[in-house]
Amino acid sequence: MFSKILIANRGEIACRVIKTARRMGIGTVAVYSDADRDGLHVRMADEAVHIGAAPASQSYLDIEKIVAACRASGAQAVHPGYGFLSENPAFAERLRQEGIYFIGPPVKAIEAMGDKITSKSIAAEAGVSTVPGHMGLVANAAEARRIAGAIGYPVMIKASGGGGGKGMRIARSDGEVAEAFERSQSEAASSFGDDRIFIEKYIEEPRHIEIQVLADAMGNCIHLGERECSIQRRNQKVIEEAPSPFLDPGTRAEMGAQAVALAKAVNYVSAGTVEFIVDKDRNFYFLEMNTRLQVEHPVTELVTGLDLVEEMLRIANGEKLRWRQEDVALNGWAIEARIYAEDPYRNFLPSTGRLKRYRPPAEEASAHLVVRNDTGVYEGAEISPYYDPMIAKLVTWAPDRAEAIDGLSAALDQFVLEGVGNNIPFVASVLEQERFRAGRLSTNYIADEFPEGFAGAAPDDETLLALAALACRAAFQLETRGFVEPGAVTNAHVIAERSVIIDGRRWDFSIPKSGDSFVLMTDKGQPLLIEDGWQPGASLTATEIDGRTLYVRMDRITSGFRMRYRGADLVAKVVLPHVADLMVHMPEKAPPDLSRFLICPMPGQVVRIDVAEGEVVEEGQTLAVVEAMKMENVLRAERRARVSQLNAVAGDVLAVDAVIMEFEAV
Ligand code: ADP
Repeated sequence: MFSKILIANRGEIACRVIKTARRMGIGTVAVYSDADRDGLHVRMADEAVHIGAAPASQSYLDIEKIVAACRASGAQAVHPGYGFLSENPAFAERLRQEGIYFIGPPVKAIEAMGDKITSKSIAAEAGVSTVPGHMGLVANAAEARRIAGAIGYPVMIKASGGGGGKGMRIARSDGEVAEAFERSQSEAASSFGDDRIFIEKYIEEPRHIEIQVLADAMGNCIHLGERECSIQRRNQKVIEEAPSPFLDPGTRAEMGAQAVALAKAVNYVSAGTVEFIVDKDRNFYFLEMNTRLQVEHPVTELVTGLDLVEEMLRIANGEKLRWRQEDVALNGWAIEARIYAEDPYRNFLPSTGRLKRYRPPAEEASAHLVVRNDTGVYEGAEISPYYDPMIAKLVTWAPDRAEAIDGLSAALDQFVLEGVGNNIPFVASVLEQERFRAGRLSTNYIADEFPEGFAGAAPDDETLLALAALACRAAFQLETRGFVEPGAVTNAHVIAERSVIIDGRRWDFSIPKSGDSFVLMTDKGQPLLIEDGWQPGASLTATEIDGRTLYVRMDRITSGFRMRYRGADLVAKVVLPHVADLMVHMPEKAPPDLSRFLICPMPGQVVRIDVAEGEVVEEGQTLAVVEAMKMENVLRAERRARVSQLNAVAGDVLAVDAVIMEFEAV
């Protein structure tokens, strides 16, 4: 086995690889850019080599700098993680020339699977079912329209060199093809430096299900079952699970066999993933093969009991696979949530800054529940704008799907993260949804369920009552701190009455004299026993109300609390009953009318302004294109209006909420 490896990556995946290497007694070398001097991976590795400036092109993507770091440290092999150079054949080739092992597949396999169009033809030849479509490249919008007509709408227009959901557009009619073609092509050119485009049928109600394969250098290849990754936002995975709630054993076996056939067709070695799209009738079609470790690999590890990084290391070391296909058993259910630094309440705007608080839930591993948190950060660390905004991957395992989801919900409830916006409330509310629980997934899930974006979850009545009761108890604790213990001071039966108002709804509680425990009485005469109250200053309150445990984030505000629970973000006011009577008469503040403005939805650069001052625009007309995080966003008119003023030109870099143009009624 190698005595020292270098990890050509950063963040959680670098830390993940280091953990396994350490367990196996292998020395580890981290590399880091200026932005990552204090990175967790740098702290965890045995040695660390500085490789350049913050932009990835000057550090993590610079092949010569990685090679130099190998030489300087004496590393014998390189684990590339995912992203960066992991699927770059020139990198694997360069390491080969240097006599350094690449912990991944052979150069030829990376090349063969490297672009969507070649890999699709190889797959078709290997007997793998592929999405019906045009097997060649498309030259221009007119040709795109002709081909789309022949395939039949809707179609998917894709960049051959695409990845990460970029350079991909659906077109549902002739009218949509030209714009979709142009957008995909220009996005592909700017993101991948490769503007080749192809077209295939758009699969309706698609599910994304992928097969993990593992192959050794002697030609043995097995699959480790599937992962379902249908919960995606703009083609980016958010929640993944293994197994899939949709597959039957027959389909699983067929998909597995095809994935293995493809791997064998390209003489694949190491861990790889064959991605399929599955329609509502369980027809499945090859999408692409990822020739590296995937972000979501932990769910496979938790249901198979294998450590994929260990297997990659052994395979790179020339060892034979330790399992035959029949030895692979899937046990229980695993589910992963990607925690991103993005603000779900503001259209998932990327968020950067210092992690003022980072207290993940405790990891655990019992026969009933496993909680695993793969992360690359720590409290006080900086989320920089240079790299992927993923903060952590929270993964749970349990004997069945419902328990795994419950475990993940509870773990998310206990995840305290402050300083940067994050998607925990969003993920938590997806996990609560009936449709998710029933396993009715599709890659359109988020678009279907959150058509207006995410505004916070609405808790059910029972939860609201529990939150109101908790707020009442906490306020009472605060008022009486040091003076009164419930039940200890007065002989009266009731020692206080309070009303709680959340979102215009009111609960009236009385606090009876009740000995040692804290009991609230609702106005319907229902007693609520509350164990463990809020501690002033605590960021997370664990409380038990009538036997149900809730983890609530509570912050003090004027006459009440801001309460955050499972995607809900509420204000609870705790007042005397006669004040509550008066509050009903308070006028509500109307939100300002923003419909006269075209507001920049995220920080980004204006690519184009498509209208002129004075022009009358129609509903749905393209007004401007803004690029952010390498995605082009088309901004359209919401209604017919006249453009009264333009405030931006192509090339301008705008902040979120900047006014791009103003309208007047026509
Ligand atoms: P990337 O390399 O950018 O991740 P993929 O080809 O893997 O691109 O596709 C990403 C996602 O886009 C898929 O998971 C699926 O949701 C959707 N998708 C891709 N091709 C199609 C198609 N032909 N029909 C419907 N959805 C598709």
